[in-house]
Amino acid sequence: MKTFERLSDWVSLRQELKQHNRTIGFVPTMGALHEGHISLVNQAKKENDFTFVSIFVNPTQFNSKEDLEKYPRSITEDISLLNAAGVDAILLPNENEIYEDNFRFKITENKFSKILCGAYRPDHFDGVLTVVMKLLGIAQADRCYMGEKDFQQYLLIKDMRESFFLKTKIISCPTIRESSGLAMSSRNERLSTENKVKAAIIYKYLHEKKTVADVRQSLEDSGFKVEYVEEIYGRRFVAAWLENVRLIDNVKI
Ligand code: AMP
Repeated sequence: MKTFERLSDWVSLRQELKQHNRTIGFVPTMGALHEGHISLVNQAKKENDFTFVSIFVNPTQFNSKEDLEKYPRSITEDISLLNAAGVDAILLPNENEIYEDNFRFKITENKFSKILCGAYRPDHFDGVLTVVMKLLGIAQADRCYMGEKDFQQYLLIKDMRESFFLKTKIISCPTIRESSGLAMSSRNERLSTENKVKAAIIYKYLHEKKTVADVRQSLEDSGFKVEYVEEIYGRRFVAAWLENVRLIDNVKI
């Protein structure tokens, strides 16, 4: 497995791959990897000749410095996991290279990014879309793999791809869960053992409770601070805080 920090080093390899008509599957991540990320890698490996993963904790998508600083980081373990999963190359870019323009250019979406998470995290999706646009430009992959866990993010990126005539196909992959039903997330590491058990009721209620109002009430009764429970695009979405950890999930209805 090759590891790149400088974009130019990756670009040399990318050109070589293109010359040999090898397809590239790309998985962008923010690290603190778990089985959810590895499921995207596995899908990419199945469908492409070469699997490329980026790890970059993108500062422009965080709403506070504190949240950015608290975001879990485990780069040594991440590299071992990706190696074991059979990834061909990883990119660990530095912030100066990604944001050489000091965020002078950015992507803004004015509709779907303003609801659900966007209503509670102003400018979050500007940061997400901008970094993904940059990473898609760098990767020049045939396919890019995204998790349904972040379904709003996936839809926005899929629509951005169409709006900007990008060639990389955006492929969605199912949410990987703990045996308790809790959607795997890098942020789960910040939950206490007790709250990890409690957090699993989000998934249970998303299925069981009849209305969005029932889900909200039941979560509030269990001690969650609920941001939203909403149904849109044939899915039921939830975002709720448990202590100081923000959890999101969604299911098909
Ligand atoms: P992140 O590192 O949290 O930015 O996530 C990188 C990619 O992994 C995104 O496309 C996420 O949707 C996806 N992902 C995160 N958690 C899961 C999960 N539990 N199951 C499937 N995909 C996931």
